[in-house]
Amino acid sequence: GQCITHCPTGALRERDDTETVFDAIADPDKIVLVQIAPAVRSAWGEELGISREEATVERLACALRRVGFEYVFDTDFSADLTIMEEGSELLERLGKAAKGEGDSRGWPMFTSCCPGWVRFVKARYPEFVDRLSTSKSPQQMFGAIAKTYYAKVLGVEPERLFVVSVMPCTAKKAECALPSMMGEDGAPDVDVALTVREMVRMIRASHVSVDTLVEEPLDTPLGFGTGAGVIFGATGGVMEAAVRSAYYLVTGKNPDADFFTDVRGLEGWKEAVADIDGTKVRVAVAHGLGNAARLLDAIRDGRVRYDFVEVMACPGGCVGGGGQPIHDGCELAAERGQVLWSLDAKADIRFSHENPDVQACYREFLGAPLSPLAEELLHTDHHAWSMPNEGTC
Ligand code: SF4
Repeated sequence: GQCITHCPTGALRERDDTETVFDAIADPDKIVLVQIAPAVRSAWGEELGISREEATVERLACALRRVGFEYVFDTDFSADLTIMEEGSELLERLGKAAKGEGDSRGWPMFTSCCPGWVRFVKARYPEFVDRLSTSKSPQQMFGAIAKTYYAKVLGVEPERLFVVSVMPCTAKKAECALPSMMGEDGAPDVDVALTVREMVRMIRASHVSVDTLVEEPLDTPLGFGTGAGVIFGATGGVMEAAVRSAYYLVTGKNPDADFFTDVRGLEGWKEAVADIDGTKVRVAVAHGLGNAARLLDAIRDGRVRYDFVEVMACPGGCVGGGGQPIHDGCELAAERGQVLWSLDAKADIRFSHENPDVQACYREFLGAPLSPLAEELLHTDHHAWSMPNEGTC
């Protein structure tokens, strides 16, 4: 279609998918699952008049069950899975480079969990597409695992599962519709991505009385995420989570969970050196596409050199995403980000590799990170699709 916004994230093109989800809930043949993205827990109460303290993910689980979702899961689970795959990918590439077996993709490796950023690279810096991690985003990994592993756990045909995600993002709608995000049978990993605003409309339309919501546990086994999974929603969080687990993967032991906090904060372009038991990894983090463009120009011109770079299209990361509640003239990314950092600080488990449900998924199903099955389900080819109006949007 026509690109009318010149917004590379697609964030300004609104679409309402709530009826499709209500239809699936009403269909007796469908089992409807919902995954809640990390950043959603920082903001979902805003439009419903629920305070940040009360608007926990457990209370949201209660609201979503009252709307009619049969299973409520957490994208934090698959954020942990993303760290296992992406961290292993980085270490494999660094290991090859150290032995002089470098490949032609070049450095740095870029994160790929933000579809606004992936679209931006494809449209504006196509020479860097090969440097994007091949790992799918947490939203897509969740869908791929739900329709294979979880269908087996439930003992049902995968086509009966209808996977919905609640995202802080409008670009996630386009991501789950990409031809490269379908299973073997051609069915999408994620059937519908809703924004937080759409989810709030569903809660209202279902006449859920928010005063009576209670905290309910999420379902298992795809409903548990670590502190490292939670911080995916804030700028710098993916990098920090990756460095925590990379340390373990290299040394076999955990660092202090707070050993690397250099890329926290709202500066637009941050850089640091992560010392992984003597191995120095040069990292950078950018949020907002203006900062991303400055950083990419500097890399292209040889002014900076990094090994691993995280980019999020929205200011502040997903907490400031285009699918979150909107309050005119009010910038809430910092306050919402703080919610995620404090959830991480309080979490019992703060390392993605220690997520017991992720460990079970590898043990019982995937084998190991980067195994042939993990490659098939959890990785993607960024060349498998083209941008509409490539080069102009
Ligand atoms: Fe979506 Fe998050 Fe990327 Fe914004 S930063 S486009 S909310 S994935």
